[in-house]
Amino acid sequence: MANALIALDHVTRTFQVKRQTIKAVDDLSLAINAGEIVCLVGESGCGKTTTGKMIAGVLPVSSGEILFRGEEISNLRGDAHKKFRLGVQMIHQDPYASLNPVRTVFDTIAAPLRHHHYTQTETATRKRVRELLELVDLTPPDDLLDKYPHQLSGGQRQRVSIARALTVNPAFIVADEAVSMVDVSIRISLLNTLSKLKTAMGLSVLFITHDLALAKYFAWEGRIGVMYLGRLVEIAPSRQLVEHPQHPYTQVLLSAIPEANPDVTRKKSRIELRSMDVPSLMRLPSGCAFHPRCPQFIGEICERVRPELTQANGARVACHLVEEKVTRGA
Ligand code: SF4
Repeated sequence: MANALIALDHVTRTFQVKRQTIKAVDDLSLAINAGEIVCLVGESGCGKTTTGKMIAGVLPVSSGEILFRGEEISNLRGDAHKKFRLGVQMIHQDPYASLNPVRTVFDTIAAPLRHHHYTQTETATRKRVRELLELVDLTPPDDLLDKYPHQLSGGQRQRVSIARALTVNPAFIVADEAVSMVDVSIRISLLNTLSKLKTAMGLSVLFITHDLALAKYFAWEGRIGVMYLGRLVEIAPSRQLVEHPQHPYTQVLLSAIPEANPDVTRKKSRIELRSMDVPSLMRLPSGCAFHPRCPQFIGEICERVRPELTQANGARVACHLVEEKVTRGA
Protein backbone atom coordinates (compact mmCIF):
# COMPACT_ATOMS: atom_id res chain seq x y z
CA MET A 1 0.00 0.00 0.00
CA ALA A 2 2.94 2.31 0.76
CA ASN A 3 3.92 2.75 -2.92
CA ALA A 4 0.39 2.89 -4.32
CA LEU A 5 -0.74 5.87 -6.37
CA ILE A 6 -4.10 5.80 -4.57
CA ALA A 7 -4.66 3.92 -1.33
CA LEU A 8 -7.87 3.63 0.69
CA ASP A 9 -7.31 2.61 4.27
CA HIS A 10 -10.42 1.42 6.15
CA VAL A 11 -12.58 4.05 4.44
CA THR A 12 -16.20 4.44 5.50
CA ARG A 13 -18.75 6.93 4.20
CA THR A 14 -22.05 7.43 5.94
CA PHE A 15 -25.15 9.44 5.03
CA GLN A 16 -28.12 10.54 7.10
CA VAL A 17 -31.36 9.18 5.63
CA LYS A 18 -34.62 9.77 7.49
CA ARG A 19 -32.76 10.36 10.76
CA GLN A 20 -30.88 7.12 10.32
CA THR A 21 -27.19 6.73 9.54
CA ILE A 22 -26.49 4.42 6.62
CA LYS A 23 -23.07 3.22 5.50
CA ALA A 24 -22.80 3.68 1.73
CA VAL A 25 -19.19 2.44 1.91
CA ASP A 26 -18.08 0.37 4.87
CA ASP A 27 -14.45 -0.21 5.87
CA LEU A 28 -12.98 -0.32 2.38
CA SER A 29 -9.23 -0.85 1.96
CA LEU A 30 -7.82 -0.86 -1.55
CA ALA A 31 -4.52 0.15 -3.14
CA ILE A 32 -4.19 1.05 -6.83
CA ASN A 33 -0.74 1.32 -8.39
CA ALA A 34 0.50 3.62 -11.13
CA GLY A 35 -0.57 2.34 -14.54
CA GLU A 36 -3.07 -0.15 -13.09
CA ILE A 37 -6.71 -0.71 -14.10
CA VAL A 38 -9.15 -1.66 -11.36
CA CYS A 39 -12.87 -2.19 -12.00
CA LEU A 40 -15.46 -1.93 -9.25
CA VAL A 41 -18.66 -3.81 -10.06
CA GLY A 42 -21.90 -4.41 -8.24
CA GLU A 43 -25.61 -3.60 -8.20
CA SER A 44 -26.74 0.00 -7.78
CA GLY A 45 -26.43 1.09 -4.16
CA CYS A 46 -23.38 -1.09 -3.54
CA GLY A 47 -21.13 1.95 -2.91
CA LYS A 48 -19.02 1.94 -6.06
CA THR A 49 -19.90 5.50 -7.18
CA THR A 50 -19.48 6.86 -3.64
CA THR A 51 -16.02 5.24 -3.61
CA GLY A 52 -15.14 6.94 -6.91
CA LYS A 53 -16.32 10.32 -5.65
CA MET A 54 -14.26 10.01 -2.45
CA ILE A 55 -11.14 9.12 -4.45
CA ALA A 56 -11.71 12.14 -6.71
CA GLY A 57 -12.05 14.36 -3.63
CA VAL A 58 -15.67 15.24 -4.46
CA LEU A 59 -16.99 13.63 -1.25
CA PRO A 60 -15.13 13.56 2.07
CA VAL A 61 -14.69 10.28 3.92
CA SER A 62 -16.54 9.78 7.21
CA SER A 63 -13.66 7.77 8.65
CA GLY A 64 -10.48 6.16 7.39
CA GLU A 65 -7.94 7.69 5.02
CA ILE A 66 -7.38 8.13 1.30
CA LEU A 67 -3.75 8.61 0.28
CA PHE A 68 -2.57 10.07 -3.03
CA ARG A 69 1.13 9.32 -3.60
CA GLY A 70 1.39 8.59 0.14
CA GLU A 71 -0.23 11.85 1.30
CA GLU A 72 -3.60 11.91 3.04
CA ILE A 73 -5.81 13.93 0.69
CA SER A 74 -7.80 15.82 3.32
CA ASN A 75 -4.52 17.20 4.73
CA LEU A 76 -3.34 18.58 1.39
CA ARG A 77 -3.11 22.35 1.07
CA GLY A 78 -1.82 24.84 -1.52
CA ASP A 79 0.30 23.37 -4.32
CA ALA A 80 0.03 19.81 -2.99
CA HIS A 81 -3.78 20.07 -3.04
CA LYS A 82 -3.73 21.50 -6.56
CA LYS A 83 -1.51 18.63 -7.74
CA PHE A 84 -4.01 16.15 -6.31
CA ARG A 85 -7.04 17.90 -7.86
CA LEU A 86 -5.36 17.94 -11.26
CA GLY A 87 -3.82 14.49 -10.85
CA VAL A 88 -7.15 12.73 -10.26
CA GLN A 89 -9.84 13.40 -12.84
CA MET A 90 -13.36 12.03 -13.05
CA ILE A 91 -15.31 11.07 -16.17
CA HIS A 92 -19.04 11.01 -15.47
CA GLN A 93 -21.81 8.81 -16.76
CA ASP A 94 -23.72 11.59 -18.52
CA PRO A 95 -21.45 13.65 -20.79
CA TYR A 96 -24.38 15.85 -21.82
CA ALA A 97 -24.85 17.04 -18.22
CA SER A 98 -21.13 17.51 -17.64
CA LEU A 99 -20.51 19.67 -20.75
CA ASN A 100 -21.51 23.33 -20.86
CA PRO A 101 -24.19 23.60 -23.60
CA VAL A 102 -23.10 27.11 -24.64
CA ARG A 103 -19.43 26.23 -25.05
CA THR A 104 -18.02 24.86 -28.28
CA VAL A 105 -15.73 21.82 -28.22
CA PHE A 106 -12.76 24.15 -28.63
CA ASP A 107 -13.81 26.40 -25.73
CA THR A 108 -14.50 23.38 -23.47
CA ILE A 109 -11.02 21.97 -23.94
CA ALA A 110 -9.16 25.29 -24.20
CA ALA A 111 -10.54 26.62 -20.86
CA PRO A 112 -8.49 24.36 -18.50
CA LEU A 113 -5.42 24.67 -20.75
CA ARG A 114 -5.50 28.45 -20.38
CA HIS A 115 -6.64 28.48 -16.75
CA HIS A 116 -3.79 26.23 -15.56
CA HIS A 117 -1.25 27.83 -17.95
CA TYR A 118 -0.51 24.62 -19.86
CA THR A 119 -0.40 26.75 -23.01
CA GLN A 120 0.90 30.31 -23.23
CA THR A 121 -0.34 31.47 -26.64
CA GLU A 122 -3.51 31.10 -28.70
CA THR A 123 -1.57 29.16 -31.35
CA ALA A 124 -0.27 26.70 -28.74
CA THR A 125 -3.79 26.31 -27.30
CA ARG A 126 -5.29 25.51 -30.74
CA LYS A 127 -2.49 23.03 -31.42
CA ARG A 128 -2.97 21.27 -28.06
CA VAL A 129 -6.78 21.13 -28.45
CA ARG A 130 -6.33 19.44 -31.85
CA GLU A 131 -3.80 16.97 -30.36
CA LEU A 132 -6.18 16.06 -27.53
CA LEU A 133 -9.09 15.52 -29.91
CA GLU A 134 -6.90 13.20 -32.00
CA LEU A 135 -5.83 11.35 -28.86
CA VAL A 136 -9.46 10.51 -28.09
CA ASP A 137 -10.09 9.51 -31.72
CA LEU A 138 -12.16 12.57 -32.66
CA THR A 139 -10.86 13.07 -36.16
CA PRO A 140 -10.46 15.19 -38.15
CA PRO A 141 -10.40 17.62 -35.19
CA ASP A 142 -11.11 20.68 -37.34
CA ASP A 143 -14.59 19.29 -38.12
CA LEU A 144 -15.51 19.35 -34.43
CA LEU A 145 -13.82 22.43 -32.94
CA ASP A 146 -16.77 24.78 -33.46
CA LYS A 147 -19.55 22.35 -32.59
CA TYR A 148 -21.75 22.59 -29.49
CA PRO A 149 -22.61 19.55 -27.31
CA HIS A 150 -26.11 19.22 -28.86
CA GLN A 151 -24.51 18.85 -32.31
CA LEU A 152 -22.49 15.80 -31.21
CA SER A 153 -23.45 12.14 -30.80
CA GLY A 154 -23.39 10.58 -27.31
CA GLY A 155 -20.08 8.86 -28.07
CA GLN A 156 -18.51 12.09 -29.38
CA ARG A 157 -19.67 13.98 -26.27
CA GLN A 158 -18.08 11.37 -23.99
CA ARG A 159 -14.84 11.61 -26.00
CA VAL A 160 -14.87 15.41 -25.52
CA SER A 161 -15.29 14.81 -21.73
CA ILE A 162 -12.30 12.48 -21.80
CA ALA A 163 -10.23 15.00 -23.79
CA ARG A 164 -11.13 17.70 -21.24
CA ALA A 165 -10.02 15.41 -18.38
CA LEU A 166 -6.69 14.87 -20.16
CA THR A 167 -5.95 18.60 -20.53
CA VAL A 168 -4.39 18.66 -17.04
CA ASN A 169 -2.16 15.56 -17.53
CA PRO A 170 -3.80 13.43 -14.83
CA ALA A 171 -2.21 10.31 -13.38
CA PHE A 172 -5.49 8.75 -12.28
CA ILE A 173 -8.91 8.62 -13.94
CA VAL A 174 -12.13 7.67 -12.19
CA ALA A 175 -14.51 6.56 -14.96
CA ASP A 176 -17.98 6.25 -13.40
CA GLU A 177 -20.29 4.26 -15.70
CA ALA A 178 -18.50 6.20 -18.43
CA VAL A 179 -19.84 4.17 -21.34
CA SER A 180 -23.26 3.13 -20.06
CA MET A 181 -25.13 6.04 -21.69
CA VAL A 182 -23.75 5.53 -25.19
CA ASP A 183 -25.05 3.10 -27.81
CA VAL A 184 -23.94 -0.48 -27.32
CA SER A 185 -22.15 -0.39 -30.70
CA ILE A 186 -19.97 2.51 -29.52
CA ARG A 187 -19.13 1.19 -26.04
CA ILE A 188 -16.33 -1.09 -27.15
CA SER A 189 -14.71 1.59 -29.29
CA LEU A 190 -14.81 4.02 -26.32
CA LEU A 191 -13.29 1.39 -24.05
CA ASN A 192 -10.58 0.77 -26.65
CA THR A 193 -9.82 4.51 -26.67
CA LEU A 194 -9.57 4.55 -22.85
CA SER A 195 -7.32 1.50 -22.98
CA LYS A 196 -5.07 3.09 -25.58
CA LEU A 197 -4.80 6.27 -23.47
CA LYS A 198 -4.01 4.25 -20.36
CA THR A 199 -1.06 2.64 -22.15
CA ALA A 200 0.11 5.78 -23.98
CA MET A 201 -0.04 8.06 -20.94
CA GLY A 202 0.67 5.52 -18.18
CA LEU A 203 -2.68 6.33 -16.57
CA SER A 204 -4.26 4.43 -13.70
CA VAL A 205 -7.99 3.91 -14.15
CA LEU A 206 -10.73 3.09 -11.66
CA PHE A 207 -13.56 1.89 -13.90
CA ILE A 208 -16.93 1.76 -12.16
CA THR A 209 -19.68 -0.27 -13.76
CA HIS A 210 -22.72 -2.40 -12.95
CA ASP A 211 -21.89 -4.54 -16.00
CA LEU A 212 -19.48 -7.36 -15.27
CA ALA A 213 -19.19 -8.15 -18.99
CA LEU A 214 -17.78 -4.65 -19.60
CA ALA A 215 -15.46 -4.97 -16.60
CA LYS A 216 -14.17 -8.26 -18.02
CA TYR A 217 -13.44 -6.67 -21.38
CA PHE A 218 -11.84 -3.49 -20.10
CA ALA A 219 -9.87 -4.78 -17.13
CA TRP A 220 -8.67 -8.13 -18.46
CA GLU A 221 -5.08 -7.13 -17.63
CA GLY A 222 -6.06 -5.52 -14.32
CA ARG A 223 -8.17 -6.39 -11.29
CA ILE A 224 -11.88 -6.57 -10.61
CA GLY A 225 -13.40 -5.81 -7.22
CA VAL A 226 -16.98 -6.86 -6.47
CA MET A 227 -18.98 -4.74 -4.01
CA TYR A 228 -22.19 -5.67 -2.22
CA LEU A 229 -24.15 -3.29 0.01
CA GLY A 230 -21.19 -1.04 0.76
CA ARG A 231 -18.54 -3.70 1.22
CA LEU A 232 -15.89 -5.22 -1.02
CA VAL A 233 -16.64 -8.96 -1.07
CA GLU A 234 -14.03 -10.18 -3.54
CA ILE A 235 -11.07 -8.68 -5.41
CA ALA A 236 -8.72 -10.54 -7.70
CA PRO A 237 -6.83 -10.29 -10.99
CA SER A 238 -9.58 -10.15 -13.63
CA ARG A 239 -8.75 -13.42 -15.39
CA GLN A 240 -8.72 -15.27 -12.07
CA LEU A 241 -11.96 -13.69 -10.85
CA VAL A 242 -13.74 -14.57 -14.10
CA GLU A 243 -12.35 -18.11 -14.43
CA HIS A 244 -12.32 -19.05 -10.73
CA PRO A 245 -14.79 -16.83 -8.88
CA GLN A 246 -14.84 -17.70 -5.18
CA HIS A 247 -17.48 -15.52 -3.51
CA PRO A 248 -21.03 -16.84 -4.08
CA TYR A 249 -22.18 -13.35 -5.16
CA THR A 250 -19.42 -13.13 -7.81
CA GLN A 251 -20.48 -16.57 -9.06
CA VAL A 252 -24.10 -15.38 -9.34
CA LEU A 253 -23.09 -12.24 -11.26
CA LEU A 254 -20.96 -14.24 -13.71
CA SER A 255 -23.66 -16.83 -14.28
CA ALA A 256 -26.09 -14.02 -15.21
CA ILE A 257 -23.97 -12.57 -18.05
CA PRO A 258 -25.81 -13.21 -21.33
CA GLU A 259 -23.80 -14.71 -24.21
CA ALA A 260 -23.89 -13.30 -27.76
CA ASN A 261 -25.56 -16.51 -28.92
CA PRO A 262 -29.08 -16.72 -27.35
CA ASP A 263 -29.03 -20.54 -27.57
CA VAL A 264 -25.91 -20.61 -25.40
CA THR A 265 -27.52 -18.15 -22.95
CA ARG A 266 -30.68 -20.29 -22.70
CA LYS A 267 -28.63 -23.40 -21.96
CA LYS A 268 -26.27 -21.66 -19.55
CA SER A 269 -26.79 -22.86 -16.00
CA ARG A 270 -27.81 -19.86 -13.96
CA ILE A 271 -27.27 -19.86 -10.20
CA GLU A 272 -30.55 -19.26 -8.40
CA LEU A 273 -30.58 -16.86 -5.46
CA ARG A 274 -32.44 -17.77 -2.26
CA SER A 275 -34.26 -14.44 -2.55
CA MET A 276 -34.57 -11.86 -5.34
CA ASP A 277 -35.06 -8.98 -2.85
CA VAL A 278 -32.03 -6.74 -2.38
CA PRO A 279 -31.93 -5.69 1.29
CA SER A 280 -32.04 -1.98 2.05
CA LEU A 281 -28.94 -0.23 3.40
CA MET A 282 -31.30 1.03 6.13
CA ARG A 283 -32.01 -2.52 7.29
CA LEU A 284 -28.82 -4.42 6.62
CA PRO A 285 -28.98 -8.15 7.38
CA SER A 286 -26.88 -9.30 10.32
CA GLY A 287 -23.65 -11.26 9.80
CA CYS A 288 -22.92 -11.60 6.10
CA ALA A 289 -25.16 -9.07 4.35
CA PHE A 290 -25.57 -11.50 1.43
CA HIS A 291 -26.91 -14.33 3.61
CA PRO A 292 -30.66 -13.88 2.88
CA ARG A 293 -29.90 -14.36 -0.86
CA CYS A 294 -26.84 -16.59 -0.79
CA PRO A 295 -27.27 -19.91 -2.63
CA GLN A 296 -24.41 -21.41 -0.61
CA PHE A 297 -25.53 -20.22 2.84
CA ILE A 298 -23.92 -22.48 5.45
CA GLY A 299 -25.97 -21.68 8.51
CA GLU A 300 -25.71 -19.77 11.73
CA ILE A 301 -22.22 -18.39 11.21
CA CYS A 302 -23.43 -16.58 8.04
CA GLU A 303 -26.31 -15.02 10.01
CA ARG A 304 -24.26 -14.02 13.03
CA VAL A 305 -20.69 -13.18 12.03
CA ARG A 306 -19.67 -10.66 9.40
CA PRO A 307 -16.95 -12.23 7.22
CA GLU A 308 -13.80 -10.14 6.74
CA LEU A 309 -11.76 -9.99 3.55
CA THR A 310 -9.06 -12.65 3.75
CA GLN A 311 -6.46 -13.99 1.35
CA ALA A 312 -7.79 -16.98 -0.56
CA ASN A 313 -5.97 -18.55 -3.52
CA GLY A 314 -4.50 -15.27 -4.80
CA ALA A 315 -7.68 -13.25 -4.21
CA ARG A 316 -9.18 -11.46 -1.22
CA VAL A 317 -12.63 -12.80 -0.38
CA ALA A 318 -15.12 -12.11 2.43
CA CYS A 319 -16.99 -15.39 2.90
CA HIS A 320 -17.05 -18.00 5.70
CA LEU A 321 -17.41 -20.84 3.21
CA VAL A 322 -14.29 -19.78 1.31
CA GLU A 323 -12.40 -19.31 4.58
CA GLU A 324 -13.39 -22.81 5.63
CA LYS A 325 -12.24 -24.27 2.29
CA VAL A 326 -8.88 -22.48 2.57
CA THR A 327 -8.43 -23.79 6.13
CA ARG A 328 -9.25 -27.34 4.98
CA GLY A 329 -6.90 -26.90 2.01
CA ALA A 330 -9.76 -27.73 -0.37
FE1 SF4 B 1 -22.87 -17.04 1.58
FE2 SF4 B 1 -22.20 -17.40 4.11
FE3 SF4 B 1 -20.34 -16.81 2.29
FE4 SF4 B 1 -22.11 -14.98 3.06
S1 SF4 B 1 -20.55 -15.92 4.33
S2 SF4 B 1 -21.46 -15.39 1.00
S3 SF4 B 1 -23.92 -16.22 3.36
S4 SF4 B 1 -21.59 -18.67 2.37
